Amino acid sequence: MSEHAPLGPSAAEGWATCAGYINANRGLPDFDSKPAAEGTAAHMISEYCLAFGLDAADFIGARTKVADWTFVWTDDDADLLQRGIDYIRDLPGEFFGEQRVDISDITLPGQFGTLDRAIWDGDTIILNDLKWGRGVPVSPFENKQLMLYALGLWIKLGRPAIKRFILQIDQPRHAGGGGTWECTLDDLEQFAEWIEQRAIATTDPDAPRTASLKGCVWCKRRRVRYGCDTFDEYMLNVLGLTPDVLDFDIMIGSELMLPKILNPERRSFILNHASLINSWLEEMQRLELEDAERGEPIPDRKLVLGNKERAKWEDEALAEAKVRDVLGDQGFNKKVKTPTQVLKLLKDEPTRQEPLLPLINNGEKKPTVVPADDARPSIVTISQAIAELDDL
Ligand code: SF4
Repeated sequence: MSEHAPLGPSAAEGWATCAGYINANRGLPDFDSKPAAEGTAAHMISEYCLAFGLDAADFIGARTKVADWTFVWTDDDADLLQRGIDYIRDLPGEFFGEQRVDISDITLPGQFGTLDRAIWDGDTIILNDLKWGRGVPVSPFENKQLMLYALGLWIKLGRPAIKRFILQIDQPRHAGGGGTWECTLDDLEQFAEWIEQRAIATTDPDAPRTASLKGCVWCKRRRVRYGCDTFDEYMLNVLGLTPDVLDFDIMIGSELMLPKILNPERRSFILNHASLINSWLEEMQRLELEDAERGEPIPDRKLVLGNKERAKWEDEALAEAKVRDVLGDQGFNKKVKTPTQVLKLLKDEPTRQEPLLPLINNGEKKPTVVPADDARPSIVTISQAIAELDDL
């Protein structure tokens, strides 16, 4: 995982939409973040499961250390990951897991990426990418990362005549993320021509920066001190602000004035940027805390001691052994397994399953609002259905 291609598929949304992305990120260190480290841990477990025929529940209680964090794999994690694993296992065809694909032909020499999961059955290539994040919903619709993986795998397979490509995001921890999008080889070849030009554009030493919702979200440049003016200006515009308006408000001591008349279009525009706005504010808070701790100015704000965190074990493995010595089983909580795990244990015993089935709440899909390009069909509300009937 340490190998890195600057124009790799995972950064494609950035470098393909912002020609200045590569120059802006050159030399910046990778940022370790807890959600990214957690995603790495889940990917490792997914990879082991698919490579060695294991289930996600086989890892419950396992500790995975990634960067500065140690994650304990839980029942809930196992249930959420298992759905995607079961789905992939049931597909006919040749499976490719954690497969490195070369995309030099469609970008620049030396570029590659590593896809999570793919199946090829001769006619169809299915790409299935695991996203473990809860924060930013990811859609498969015209997803540049998946399209590059699909092209890379197609090239690796010797450019066979593929009838369709099914691109999927498996994002089990986000109600609005994930889904399926289908495209043809023609679609991907057109995309390849376009993205090759975008890759070449990044080689200009004066390549301009262009901020966008999807392009900036994972860009490291915006996360460093004095990061990216283009991005900051874009975010101020999203909120209907400009630097001059802000300076004027500060000068006259006014409160922050966000747009007051939020019609549905303005509301959708702002909500489509919600995760980027949150992440922008979090970065500002992080940099402000650093400034405050260094004694640098944070006008109208101050550094104080926050609330005490809850007590936790310094070293869970050591604590487990000591608590067992001192308290035995009394020191541990026991929990019933999840319905999925129990039914899996009883999969060939329907009579033993029977009394348990009425006790299971199978969950429901709750309505959520996503961007209009999401591949899932819209829910037709009762009032819309009545209006359609009236139109007949
Ligand atoms: S933050 Fe956005 S505009 Fe700035 S360099 Fe990164 S991708 Fe380009």
